[in-house]
Amino acid sequence: MDNDFKLLSNSYWDVLTKQSIDNLGITPEDGINILKAKDDDTFSIINAAYRVRTHFHGKKVRIHILQNAKSGECPEDCNFCAQSSKNSTSIETYPLLNVELLVEEAKKAKASGAWKYCMVTATRSPSNRDLDIICQATKRIKKEVNIKVCTSLGLLTFDKAKRLAEAGVDRFNHNLETSNQYFEKIVHTHTWDERWQTLTYVKEAGMEICSGGIIGMGESLDDILDLCFSLKSIGVASIPINFLNPRPNTPLEKQPTVDAFFGLRVLSLFRLVHPDKDIRAAGGREITFRTLQPLVLYIANSIFTNGYLTTDGQTSEMDIRMIKELGFYPEVN
Ligand code: SF4
Repeated sequence: MDNDFKLLSNSYWDVLTKQSIDNLGITPEDGINILKAKDDDTFSIINAAYRVRTHFHGKKVRIHILQNAKSGECPEDCNFCAQSSKNSTSIETYPLLNVELLVEEAKKAKASGAWKYCMVTATRSPSNRDLDIICQATKRIKKEVNIKVCTSLGLLTFDKAKRLAEAGVDRFNHNLETSNQYFEKIVHTHTWDERWQTLTYVKEAGMEICSGGIIGMGESLDDILDLCFSLKSIGVASIPINFLNPRPNTPLEKQPTVDAFFGLRVLSLFRLVHPDKDIRAAGGREITFRTLQPLVLYIANSIFTNGYLTTDGQTSEMDIRMIKELGFYPEVN
C-alpha cells in the first residue's frame, strides 16, 4: 500500500528511536507519520524499531502457545470471531477441557520451546466451575512445568481476578481490540468500558496485563493510535497485535487482509510507543506477512506458534528455524 505521504528524513527516525529508547515517548503525530509513511520509508522505520527492540530485548524471542481450552458457542457477538454463537461458522466446539489435559498440553508447549502457555476459553465470563478447573490446572502447571501461565477467560470481577492471581496465573489476556469509539461497530453484547474495567481488576489483583487488538477490521488510523495509547495509559506488559484473518460466515468475512508493509508499520508504532514491553505478532501473521514474516522479528520480540484458536499457523519447528536463521533465539524460563 504505497501512498503520497512525504518521505521523511533518516534523522527524523533517529530522533524517534532515541526518544523511544530514553522512554520519553513519541507523540500521536509521530504515530500518524509512521502509519502514513511511504512503503520506501518502511525499512527506515523497521530499523528504528529494531534498535529499540534490541536495546530492551536483545535478540530474544518469547514464544507463546495457545490452548483453546473451551471452543465455540460463545454468547458474545464479536464480528471477527468464528467462536461466536451468533456466527454460523463450522468450527469444532467442545466444553472446558479437564485439568489433566490442560497440564499435558502445557508440557507439550514447553517441549515445543514455549516461554508461555495460554489457556483460552470462548465465553463472556468464566463460571465458578470453569474458574475452579483453570485454577487447579494452573497450580499443577506451576508445580510440574517450568513455563509462564496466561489465561484468557473473558470479563472478570475483582474476586475472579484475585482467585486466578492466587492460583499462580502470571498474566491475564483481555484484548481491547480497537479504539473505544470503533468497538461498538464490532461488538454489541458488551462494551469497551467493560473490557477496560476487567483490565483494572487484573492489575489490582496483581497479575500482569496482556492486551492488544486486531488490525484490519475497517478501523481508521486514529482508531489504531487510540488503541496504542490507551494500552500505554493502563500499563500493559504484553501486547498481541492480531491481523484480521477474515473467517467465513462472520460479518467481517469480506474484509481484505492487511497490507504487509502497513502491518510492519503498525508493529513498529507499537514498538516505539511501548519500547520495553512484549510486542507479539499474533494471529494472522502468516497470511498478512507471507514471505516477509522474518521482518516481523526485527520489531516484535514475541510470536505465537503452532497456530491459533481456530486457525492453523506456522509450526513450532518452522518458527524456531526462522528465529535461529535470523540470529535470534527463543527465550527460556
Ligand atoms: S468474547 Fe471472545 S470467544 Fe466470545 S465471541 Fe468475542 S472474541 Fe469470540
